[in-house]
Amino acid sequence: MPFPNRFAELLPEITAWRRDFHEHPELMYQEHRTAARVAELLRSFGVDEVQEGIGRTGVVGVIRGKGPGTKVIGLRADMDALPITELTGHPHASKNPGVMHACGHDGHTAMLLGAAKYLAETRNFSGTAVLVFQPAEEGGAGAKAMIDDGLISRWGVQEMYGLHTNPGTPIGKYKTRSGPMMASADTFQITVTGRGGHAARPHECIDTMLTAAQIVVGLQGIVARNVNPLQSAVLSVCACKTDSPATNVIPQVVTLGGTVRTMDPGVRDLIEARLIKTATAIAEAQGATAEVLYERGYPVTINDADATSHAIAVAEAIGGDNAVDSTIDPVMGAEDFAYYAEKIPSAFVFLGNGDTAGVHTPDFDFDDESIPFGSSWLAGMVEARAVA
Ligand SMILES: [Zn+2]
Ligand SMILES: [Zn+2]
Repeated sequence: MPFPNRFAELLPEITAWRRDFHEHPELMYQEHRTAARVAELLRSFGVDEVQEGIGRTGVVGVIRGKGPGTKVIGLRADMDALPITELTGHPHASKNPGVMHACGHDGHTAMLLGAAKYLAETRNFSGTAVLVFQPAEEGGAGAKAMIDDGLISRWGVQEMYGLHTNPGTPIGKYKTRSGPMMASADTFQITVTGRGGHAARPHECIDTMLTAAQIVVGLQGIVARNVNPLQSAVLSVCACKTDSPATNVIPQVVTLGGTVRTMDPGVRDLIEARLIKTATAIAEAQGATAEVLYERGYPVTINDADATSHAIAVAEAIGGDNAVDSTIDPVMGAEDFAYYAEKIPSAFVFLGNGDTAGVHTPDFDFDDESIPFGSSWLAGMVEARAVA
């Protein structure tokens, strides 16, 4: 098992990669410099195969173990940054104005490179490690792009493991849970069309504003009355736009927008169906029409029970019995790691980043002291799972 002290030796090198990525952040599907550097480093480690351009800007590295096993274990890192102006003031702060690695993907990429270097040197496993450096986690579904490009079928990946830095959790600690861990995240837009006109003559109009207001109220009944109270879901109407700024005109068109989060694929299907039905029926009752555009975003991230127990065992082997909190509540944020977990048994863990500002803030600061714990867990998953 690759304990953190093995990675402590590699820490200065991995930290230098991490800070280089941090200085040169790139937005989704623009990770050209990052991907080129990842591929260059993988080749320098002597990995068996490096493929660039998978899922547009993704990179895949393949390392074959010493043993004859056939197990194929995938390890995933994400490479994209966010459109945020960095305020940390570090010497290695972003040199790309308005773009920042504020979600720690620079750290994820560097930690997986560290694991790759170790695995290519030692090869103390039987089977194959597939290292997945994906683009566009931040809303661009880079995981799906790589899967659509044949990632799982081409390399025969059987299990997938990934981690995410977690501010507020101590360095060296891991958090996870079996089952749903992160929410599905969908968006919707409802276009209500009626008959606009003079606000003083409502009887000659079909009031789109009143209809939209009734739809907002009606939608709240879905989570309150249709979803099983033992399940969790969020339906938030967040935007309302009219085609007229006037205070004496009933608008012809009102557009509502919002988000739906769930922890269960069945609840997600239910809410989508009820949302469309509720909006269109309320509009019809008013003599208006409602056109609903429901766009599915990331699915629910569901950790496989067996994969999660393996992930916990490896983390405990590294950090001791108290290293893992395996009973956390699910979080309503979304992760495109969900696309791997839909296809093959997978587990996702949070890795402690200490007491820092949250991800997606301009003060977020990835703590390089967490690197040995991330790299050793990633490498450890291969050594634990790819056995004869
Ligand atoms: Zn993020
Ligand atoms: Zn992230």
